[in-house]
Amino acid sequence: MTTLGRIVTKLNLIAGEWLAGESEIENRNPSDLSDLVGMFAQASADQLDATLDQARIAQAEWEAYGPERKQAVLMNIGNELMSRAKELGTLLAREEGKPQAEGKGEVYRAGQFFTYYAAECLRQIGENADSVRPGVEIDVRREAVGVVAIISPWNFPTATASWKIAPALCYGNAVVWKPANITPASAVALTEIIARQDIPKGLFSLVMGSGRSIGQRLVESPKVNAISFTGSVPVGKGIASAAIQNLTKVQMEMGSKNALAVMDDADLDLAVTLALGGAFGGTGQKCTASSRLVVHAGIHDAFVEKLVAGAQALKVGHALEQGTQMGPVVSEQQLQENLAYVDLGQSEGAELACGGQRLDMPHDGFYMSPGVFLNTTNDMRINREEMFAPLTSVIKVDSYDEALRVVNDTNFGLTSGIVTQNLARATHFRRNARTGVVTVNLPTAGTDYHVPFGGRGDSSYGPREQGKAAAEFYTTVKTAYISAGTPV
Ligand code: NDP
Repeated sequence: MTTLGRIVTKLNLIAGEWLAGESEIENRNPSDLSDLVGMFAQASADQLDATLDQARIAQAEWEAYGPERKQAVLMNIGNELMSRAKELGTLLAREEGKPQAEGKGEVYRAGQFFTYYAAECLRQIGENADSVRPGVEIDVRREAVGVVAIISPWNFPTATASWKIAPALCYGNAVVWKPANITPASAVALTEIIARQDIPKGLFSLVMGSGRSIGQRLVESPKVNAISFTGSVPVGKGIASAAIQNLTKVQMEMGSKNALAVMDDADLDLAVTLALGGAFGGTGQKCTASSRLVVHAGIHDAFVEKLVAGAQALKVGHALEQGTQMGPVVSEQQLQENLAYVDLGQSEGAELACGGQRLDMPHDGFYMSPGVFLNTTNDMRINREEMFAPLTSVIKVDSYDEALRVVNDTNFGLTSGIVTQNLARATHFRRNARTGVVTVNLPTAGTDYHVPFGGRGDSSYGPREQGKAAAEFYTTVKTAYISAGTPV
């Protein structure tokens, strides 16, 4: 363990040992840059290789554990996360910037992923069939893929990692986890819980480090059998290119440009509430954020008036302060990108009705006011590129048919939603929206853990995550043919 002043550097978990790295980074609170969250070790290439070797050994041992023993491990992790949701949610909010309540909710949800997959450990039932050959039976079962690399983002540092780690362990795999370097404290906290369980040495590894160095080495390694990634499209494409060199299985969740369609028959207050929550929850830094609001002309003016008033009323502040509804942006770089999109939108002809400015606050941090663009068209770059910002655009349409066309006119396809009281429109939308997730009178953000999650187009690649669908990625199918050998 190394120390900087009174700060103890948090270490990586390498082949079952907590080890210092080749360097360290500091992690600061985006709500208050004078608050040093901690110092974090950066794994070396040799450490990565060593932990991958040990993971291979541990994986065979873990796969042979009985289902009840695996179930107990996952249940313990889930229960601890849920019981410590406030404490760990506060840590998460401190390093990521989302309001404390959202941090607590995220950690609790992460716990639910583990308890859900704890139960799945006991539900791994295969298929059997008679062969077309007389006297021969067929047994079809799923087996672990092997060593899984998990690369997770900063916006949901605990939940996203957990919805990958929990099924990976449930189905008998070893995990080497590279979390985002912006949110290492949450990663260490989760790893500490996992490392205390009854698991083989080296089954679970934490390799903190930058994506470009340790992340790239991890995805290029022939010692990895499968890669699950959540992040941006360009990085995802690079990971897929690296993975194909080794024919490594890959699953990726990337960006989106989700639309919420607001129809002229919508409940106005509900529509505004859904739009505000979807656009500005998590400071707009969600792959499921409602960044396009496709609004019917019949309700447009009333909706816009309430939307802008609602955005202006949102309390932006320190993530850990009571009453904060929207925390800071995660980093200076992200803030600068957001402000560049504000300029771009205006240069494209959009009207900035409110917000979109850097805010001076009592604490030095990455604060920005929630912004609403009006009079936008779907071909503007602000409506085509993922901004990951507290910015949303209103696109006015004259009919339901036009709304659906606009919703579907995107390279992405993660979530979409409609606000309407018309059953026929709701049903038609649910059937014709080209997204992996579709919602009716609900936000575009916020999904359950026991059902599939993923998108179409540039949003996703490979099998779906979560629920029983996760088995497709974290297992490989074996078909066994069995004959008694001699006729009875
Ligand atoms: P990235 O895609 O760069 O990062 C996601 C994860 O991938 C991080 O753990 C990162 O590590 C890692 N990574 C980066 N480069 C490589 C690489 N070459 N090989 C392996 N792993 C790598 O996202 P950013 O954090 O930079 O955010 C940029 C944009 O991406 C956002 O503005 C947003 O549009 C989108 N994004 C989408 C997310 C989603 O949920 N769909 C989540 C996060 C971002 P590290 O950060 O430590 O370098």
